[in-house]
Amino acid sequence: MTRHLDPGHELWDFTDEILVECPKCQSCSKVLPIGPDFDLFRERRLACHTCGYGQSWSGTEVGVQLRKGKMTDPYLGQVLWLQASVGDNLLWALNHRHLNELESLVAATLRQRRQDEATGWSNRSMASRLPQWLLAAGNRSRIVKVIRTLRVK
Ligand SMILES: [Zn+2]
Repeated sequence: MTRHLDPGHELWDFTDEILVECPKCQSCSKVLPIGPDFDLFRERRLACHTCGYGQSWSGTEVGVQLRKGKMTDPYLGQVLWLQASVGDNLLWALNHRHLNELESLVAATLRQRRQDEATGWSNRSMASRLPQWLLAAGNRSRIVKVIRTLRVK
């Protein structure tokens, strides 16, 4: 039996490095926080190492959005690198750490959540907010296959 202990990550914990498709040359680029400290509203910059394209973000509103059927990054609105269709649904991840986390969640046959000592059972973590299709046992093998394909993209 595979167990998955939800480490309590929120989606925003993965925004320290976001993989996107460069809007100019379509190669894999990163949206990174500017400066050594990392927080949600830290300024971000996309710098493409392939073609030199650059784009910066500063602001107070962030959120992943679906645009023309593709999931986009929460800062610059560029197409996320790690995404693939699973039937009618879209599986996406901000980076490889996020993808690994999704895989262990999906692959787990027994899911557990850890009770936070201060706040009790939390419903804020990513694992507790995943859509039902992603956690449905019938989809498990198909989703794990898609995740493994994405990993080597
Ligand atoms: Zn580029």
